[in-house]
Amino acid sequence: MNEIRLHNTLSGKVEPFVPQTPGEVKMYTCGPTVYDYAHIGNFRTFIFQDILRRFLKLRGFKMTHVMNLTDVDDRIIANAAAAKVSLRDYTEKYAQAFFDDCRTLSVQSPEQWIRATDHIPQMVQLIERLQKKSFTYDSEGSIYYRITKFSRYGKLSKIDLTGIQAGARVDNDRYEKESARDFALWKAPKPGEHFWETAIGAGRPGWHIECSAMAMAYLGETLDIHTGGIDLAFPHHENEIAQSEAATGKPFSRYWLHAEHLLVEGEKMSKSLGNFYTLRDLFAKGHKPSSLRFALASVPYRRQLNFTFDGLQQAASSVERLRTFADRLKQGKFPAGSNSTIAERIAKAANDFDAGLSDDLNTAVALAALFDFVREANIAMDKGEFKQGEVAATQDFFTNFDQVFAVIQDDDTAKLKTLGFGSSALELGDAEVEELVVERDTAKKKRDFATADRIRKELADRGIILEDSRDGSVRWKRK
Ligand SMILES: [Zn+2]
Repeated sequence: MNEIRLHNTLSGKVEPFVPQTPGEVKMYTCGPTVYDYAHIGNFRTFIFQDILRRFLKLRGFKMTHVMNLTDVDDRIIANAAAAKVSLRDYTEKYAQAFFDDCRTLSVQSPEQWIRATDHIPQMVQLIERLQKKSFTYDSEGSIYYRITKFSRYGKLSKIDLTGIQAGARVDNDRYEKESARDFALWKAPKPGEHFWETAIGAGRPGWHIECSAMAMAYLGETLDIHTGGIDLAFPHHENEIAQSEAATGKPFSRYWLHAEHLLVEGEKMSKSLGNFYTLRDLFAKGHKPSSLRFALASVPYRRQLNFTFDGLQQAASSVERLRTFADRLKQGKFPAGSNSTIAERIAKAANDFDAGLSDDLNTAVALAALFDFVREANIAMDKGEFKQGEVAATQDFFTNFDQVFAVIQDDDTAKLKTLGFGSSALELGDAEVEELVVERDTAKKKRDFATADRIRKELADRGIILEDSRDGSVRWKRK
């Protein structure tokens, strides 16, 4: 086992990971704001935190992982008011869609899913604690946080506070980048919009107080790990620290982990550029959940991920290669006995895989260890050098791999069906079918029946039936 080291945004360094209580991890993840479908940039971050939690579990840690749904913010309140529906009615559709998306991408459920609107009393209590310590001031019915009173403000994002105007306020959840200002903890009600009647007055919570109050309510005053996308480091996480630490006098989170941005074909994803994708947009184009999960997981989280359709195609073939190998391992008849050279090779691959993930979740190194091994093991199998005695250890290695990456099980078609995508979404063009038929034929000639079977199944899943005729030629038709 290798020492687990994680990059902590707070120190700017990769540090050994040591939780407060040995064997247990208290982790908080900022969840989605449920006013729209989540996009692949959001899911880059959610896949990262999923890989993190799965790896920590694999290494034996007991996880207490809390993720919130931000189901109240300026946009949600305004949109719900315009649609004349309650906040819950407005957000429910997107909350359910998010849960479905997570299941489709095999993102594990955290131990606690919580909604901001179920925790208004905890937010009010936290604001009252800050009021007692004079970290707040009132203005026009809203309550603001006075950031000049918190001397450690900026320690996470390293924002430069020189030249900040004392008392410059921002009431909005959306910030100008790079500008540190007093932020609203509690906002005065607006006519026609939803508000709560509370001990600190009528109104609604600011976005930042939601996460501080919910994280501490479930995980205590000091967390082990707080995760999110890099765009949340400032101001959201900086403000969470300011609120929580001013109230408790204790460190809020010991490790802060942030996932880098995602680009699409080298450009920033935006609706106006036409390169903005939700999961469903990609599934409608015929891409599989496992390909997307693999593509998002394969680039280490602190590296910018350039999402491309070529890359997605490559991810699909990588997953296919692994599934074929797993099948070959399961179905193959190998010579009896064992081969110590291969046994050592398995142990080395398993250790390199663990070392990659232990090194700040370097998924690229971990996957390289796996694929190098698969390539060599396939050659050894072809030569009859891979023996029955190595099957169990190889399967163990594969099981560990899949507990983290979760792509081996071939359930893409079933998952897509539950999202409402029928076989038409997966429909292949004639040229693509021909290509797969040739590929299957080549595999059969090489006596690689596992690959041939996989291709037959893949075609069947996508509505193509093959007919092998006696003369060795293959005909195909659509179901
Ligand atoms: Zn948050």
